[in-house]
Amino acid sequence: MDSIKPEDRRKSSETFKEFLAQKGLRVTNQRTAIFDAVFNQEDHFTAEDLLDFSREIDRSVSRATVYRTLPILTEGGLVKEIDVGRDYKFYLANRGQKTEQAQVICLDCEKIFEIEAPFMEWYARSVAQKVGLEPVSQRLQVHARCIRLKEGGSCPNRESH
Ligand SMILES: [Zn+2]
Repeated sequence: MDSIKPEDRRKSSETFKEFLAQKGLRVTNQRTAIFDAVFNQEDHFTAEDLLDFSREIDRSVSRATVYRTLPILTEGGLVKEIDVGRDYKFYLANRGQKTEQAQVICLDCEKIFEIEAPFMEWYARSVAQKVGLEPVSQRLQVHARCIRLKEGGSCPNRESH
């Protein structure tokens, strides 16, 4: 997965501060630690993962602050929220991709792969046009089983959990 370019990170940091200001919230050490923790992640994470990562930066980060900060980050378009039909959500720092992403979700290893899927937008537009509508968003998720785990008995994606 692509890492985040420093200029994109700086831009995101400014957007985050603007969003906090709009909501009448201060830029605190806790919120800064959460932001840094998000943008240090190359991969998907849960709110609980984010709490752990944030505490590695600043031990004082509270669970409540993480749960209040995540919606601000998603609302600001800095973090993408991914619902894979579990009772918790996954999150991913927005790397400014323009192309639509499809998700391939490994049911065995809990790994989510983001795959560029430029056809999705085209497909959504063409099916929406057929019924006289204009598409707003579209998504594709593929739920899959791990072949590596089945055949070899282990998978590197599994060990990271
Ligand atoms: Zn696997």
